[in-house]
Amino acid sequence: MVSSQIKKIGITTTIPIEILLAAGYTPVDLNNVFISDPDPGRLVNIAQRDGFPLNCCTWIKGIYGVCREYGISSVICCTSGDCSNTIMLMEVLRLRGLKVTAFAYPELPNRQQMAAALDRLAQNLGTTLEAASRVREELIPVRELALELDRLTWQQGLVSGWENHYWLVSSSDFNQDHHNYRLKLEELVAQCRRHQPYPQDMLRIAYISVPPVYGRDLYHYLEKNRARVVFNEIQRQFTMPRPGDCLAQQYSNYTYPYSIHQRLDDITTELERRRVDAVIHYVQAFCHRAIGDIIFRDGLKLPMLTLEGNNDFFLSQQVRTRIEAFLDIIQRQRQRQKIPEARANKFRLI
Ligand code: SF4
Repeated sequence: MVSSQIKKIGITTTIPIEILLAAGYTPVDLNNVFISDPDPGRLVNIAQRDGFPLNCCTWIKGIYGVCREYGISSVICCTSGDCSNTIMLMEVLRLRGLKVTAFAYPELPNRQQMAAALDRLAQNLGTTLEAASRVREELIPVRELALELDRLTWQQGLVSGWENHYWLVSSSDFNQDHHNYRLKLEELVAQCRRHQPYPQDMLRIAYISVPPVYGRDLYHYLEKNRARVVFNEIQRQFTMPRPGDCLAQQYSNYTYPYSIHQRLDDITTELERRRVDAVIHYVQAFCHRAIGDIIFRDGLKLPMLTLEGNNDFFLSQQVRTRIEAFLDIIQRQRQRQKIPEARANKFRLI
């Protein structure tokens, strides 16, 4: 039964929010609050003043800063399938007096193991999987709407890479109000359908891995340089693009918590479907996931630029130069491919 008491509960990454909603909580994605803050550096400084080391990931420090500054009293920390730093963050949050509940994705995307993990979370929060399944049904049209925005991005060229990023990444907690999220997104989708499509000759870019700390700046800079993001990998995963027939299947199909090879399969399929020209792999300073760059470079057959971000919330001149040089190379390659194609077409006509 849905409790009448609506209480905010912080989440450190995408977790099965259907259970939280069924238990009467409003999930608050602490990452989104951090990066939307008018001065995210201030939140990082709070963590550093409290002893978080300089060489700790900015997202972890930002989450901590949000808990301290925004009066968050309950948090669900994801202890497996996201970030090993979360385990120690959880201990520090407990030390500060927050109520902390752990949630762990199973090691493998196994439906039975997932069902058991979901059931444990439901029991911890005082609800049931049946109630959470009803919330799932309610959220499915909202998730489908986010996927429609995604389709308008890559198939119709009507949505910017930034809008795609923002709305998809926000589906981790639906901006704390899924009714309002749906209304606003419906308006945006209707507006986008009236847009002029982006020019066909713009480069088509895939953005893979965790969201960037310098998000807005990155997407706008790419568009200024005639390249647009038509695939935001993890952000799209947050919408649960393969919902399956139940919650356990939905969160087993979600690729982020599991082996990088599962992500690679999803990425490879989407690169082809979306006719992507090049890939940007973002890595966060001091993040273990950066090592995955080796596997992506081996497994992806497209040109790839690896960008690192730390606590710089805008693109540095050095990063801008690297992006420009990369796009320039891709454009030239594209031109070179077009010349023999044009010649072949000419001979065919003769
Ligand atoms: S970017 Fe990496 S280190 Fe930072 S919170 Fe995410 S998974 Fe953890």
